[in-house]
Amino acid sequence: MFGAGDRKITLGELRRSGRTVYCRCKDCHHESCLAPRHLIERLGSDLRVISAARHLRCSRCGSKNVVSLPGERPKHPFQMPPPPERS
Ligand SMILES: [Zn+2]
Repeated sequence: MFGAGDRKITLGELRRSGRTVYCRCKDCHHESCLAPRHLIERLGSDLRVISAARHLRCSRCGSKNVVSLPGERPKHPFQMPPPPERS
């Protein structure tokens, strides 16, 4: 799913390619995709996507144990994510 070059992609490059920032919480496994422009406004366009995680906080459990990766081009941009499944 992720190519080797993805680890070097910056927020600015991601925005130009029309992709999203995929975020996952390691504690509660909450997943979401963010629009790069929201992160660029706060962090600048030269930051690597994978480095943005340390500035993020899980919107569900508040954990800072979050990973961020270059996401895919969304089919339905910026829809609300589906409700979490309970197991
Ligand atoms: Zn969480």
